[in-house]
Amino acid sequence: MSYFKTVPVFSRAAVEILCRRLNVLSNRRLRSTVASARTDRGNVNTTEDVAQSQFSRPKSSCKIVVDFEQTQEAYKSKDSLELLRSLVVFKLCTYDILVDKNKELMDLSKKLLGQKAFEQFMKMTFYGQFVAGEDHKSIGPLIQKNRAFGVGSVLDYSVEEDISQAEEMDSWGSTAPKENVGKKFEAHRQFGDRQGGVTSARSYVYSDEGKCDQHMETFLKCIEASGGNSVDGFSAIKMTALGRPQFLLQLSETLVKWRRFFSFLALRQGKGDLEALEQRLDVERLQEFMTRLGARGDYKGWFDTEKPGSSGTIDVLDWNSLMDDRTKTSDLLVVPNMETGQLEPLLSEFSEEEEKQMKRIVQRMDLLAKHAEDHGVRLMVDAEQTYLQPAISRLTLEMQRIYNKDKPVIFNTYQCYLKEAYDNVSMDVELSRREGWCFGAKLVRGAYMYQERSRAREIGYDDPINPDYDFTNLMYHRCLDYVLDEIGLHRKANVMVASHNEDTVKHTIRRMNELGLTPTENKVYFGQLLGMCDQISFPLGQAGFPVYKYVPYGPVDEVIPYLSRRAQENRGFMKGSQRERELLWRELKRRLASGELFYTPAF
Ligand SMILES: Cc1cc2nc3c(=O)[nH]c(=O)nc-3n(C[C@H](O)[C@H](O)[C@H](O)COP(=O)(O)OP(=O)(O)OC[C@H]3O[C@@H](n4cnc5c(N)ncnc54)[C@H](O)[C@@H]3O)c2cc1C
Repeated sequence: MSYFKTVPVFSRAAVEILCRRLNVLSNRRLRSTVASARTDRGNVNTTEDVAQSQFSRPKSSCKIVVDFEQTQEAYKSKDSLELLRSLVVFKLCTYDILVDKNKELMDLSKKLLGQKAFEQFMKMTFYGQFVAGEDHKSIGPLIQKNRAFGVGSVLDYSVEEDISQAEEMDSWGSTAPKENVGKKFEAHRQFGDRQGGVTSARSYVYSDEGKCDQHMETFLKCIEASGGNSVDGFSAIKMTALGRPQFLLQLSETLVKWRRFFSFLALRQGKGDLEALEQRLDVERLQEFMTRLGARGDYKGWFDTEKPGSSGTIDVLDWNSLMDDRTKTSDLLVVPNMETGQLEPLLSEFSEEEEKQMKRIVQRMDLLAKHAEDHGVRLMVDAEQTYLQPAISRLTLEMQRIYNKDKPVIFNTYQCYLKEAYDNVSMDVELSRREGWCFGAKLVRGAYMYQERSRAREIGYDDPINPDYDFTNLMYHRCLDYVLDEIGLHRKANVMVASHNEDTVKHTIRRMNELGLTPTENKVYFGQLLGMCDQISFPLGQAGFPVYKYVPYGPVDEVIPYLSRRAQENRGFMKGSQRERELLWRELKRRLASGELFYTPAF
């Protein structure tokens, strides 16, 4: 007798994947005997791929190879002054003193040069390299130019408020955590500044509800602009911009505890963790089961206000109850106490205002998702800190259930530096398969490593990050392979490979070739930040792969925190920065030698 609504799909899917892996192996063997016929198509080569097998779908006959060494192609969209600027900026990022003191140096330059000259200087250097312009209008030409060279844009309004750690902490709300709150999910003043030690991503700081509405307005405008700019636009949002982070923290704790509880129940029934993933309760049976275990809790009583679905199950957490003003969110934040068998509220008291704030974050997200759907734009929800991420990821998944019925509109983000990344990806893919919606994911390595590690160390819980960089790489490729396999099988899921790592990009292309996935199917996207790794983005775009730059914009003075992070990331950036400088230098020398120094990109 099952306590969960389960559909026996997993074993069939596993068999399908196994079959296709065998197919790929046999394809590889066959392919090695076929002579490659090179066709000159810019930097794109095609070779005949004759291998087909009884297990596979009909595949394209072309294998695409992108040459990342051809600097002429890679920098076709840039004049020589732009190349020189990139070289100077990346070189400056190698000086520790400049990077460490970048904020102080920018302040000093502003004082010495005056506002106008400072802005001019920034536009000729860091701002010009990493930021597209001040507003929607001024970024237009750059977006058009990139598009002409095969590279799309994900608009990212990058203005950041300079709020202190204390102010950030105060925003976490008045409700004191109860005793049973896990250490990881406690708000800690020492880590109130969520921006500390983070180089690759921004953090929003909660100040009041008006500010959250402003952020939402900005996201709405970005969605409209993304829809206007192309037929297949993307827009990115951060959930912490839309409400009090305390709600995400509490919801994360609730979800983690429920997940443990479901795993426990599944285990008691001799089932694997995957059986627990739907998190739908059959309340009658749960009551029977817990009573047999000797627990005294009235589970039915807890859920009396909920309407069971046709299968007699209810969602522990569903989008409609989270949105509905009549349901108290604090009533949903209950966790099972394994010792007493009781369901207990996570927090005893929420003020009326806090209740409203929790509803509003979900309502704002729903509005954004609808807006994205109406404008034909796909909405990517960025991943943030691990103590907020279970809630961010789950709320995103709830939106996927609603909006991804026919195609992926909502994209979740998975951070592969996490030990649990593969479990998260495979469970969500499995869930999408069972429920019939389209999985959409952005895969990243993760931006909060130093902060995560020191928080875990200081507060005293397990470090959630992989032990080293090689582990993270392995994890990234494992998650990516899993999603690519899924795309190869059902052609329903979509993935964005958001990375500056050339090996990862090459790995993706290799696997796409093996699986017969062509770039024009628009299932696999690549993502990089503006001003970084053009030697990867532009060859990909010219080879026909859908590739997007995150395009930050905003007034000079207000994007300075973003620029500081770019400087830091380029210093810490594994192998990439050094290679980018070598290629830029090679192209400048080539232009000089061939008399093309005054080359102007035509578009
Ligand atoms: C388009 C785009 C969107 C992004 N969106 C998000 C987002 O939503 N959320 C988010 O968190 N980040 C996001 N990032 C940032 C991303 O997570 C990485 O921090 C950044 O891209 C660097 O990783 P890489 O794969 O490009 O390069 P690499 O240089 O190959 O990898 C560097 C990364 O490896 C990992 N790493 C380094 N050293 C170690 C170590 N010792 N142990 C374990 N892991 C290690 C870290 O994650 C580090 O950032 C995004 C990046 C891009 C390009």
